[in-house]
Amino acid sequence: MCRMILKSGWNLSKMHEMSIAHAILTEAEKIAQENNAQKVIWVRVKIGVMTGVVTEQLQSAFEIYKLQFEACGELELIIHEQPLVLQCKSCGKRTQTTEYVLQCEHCHSMEVDIIDGDSMFIEQLELDLKDDIKSGKGSA
Ligand SMILES: [Zn+2]
Repeated sequence: MCRMILKSGWNLSKMHEMSIAHAILTEAEKIAQENNAQKVIWVRVKIGVMTGVVTEQLQSAFEIYKLQFEACGELELIIHEQPLVLQCKSCGKRTQTTEYVLQCEHCHSMEVDIIDGDSMFIEQLELDLKDDIKSGKGSA
């Protein structure tokens, strides 16, 4: 077993859920091949609320597509929904919200920077490595 931390960001903010599911699987499959892994056990994807991705649709698209990938047939998709985090330029306070509103909740200023919640990427995944099987049990 092998855990990996990844920060491979995509600019997927305008992609459809089907395309995103396909992109996640393509990436997971590539990582599995690069690491000589038999399969990918789970993948955790961070999805910012600003991306507009409907997580239920992504999950169902993922279930359909994953069977087409050799290493991903049993792969579990874990979705980490990231709320929008805003930094106010007027009062300096932060706002965390799941709404689609770019406004400081403290002073109601619209002068805010987006700190988080506008991106999407694979955070982490777990691989089942072939080497583990070889070293684990001797074959007769
Ligand atoms: Zn403010």
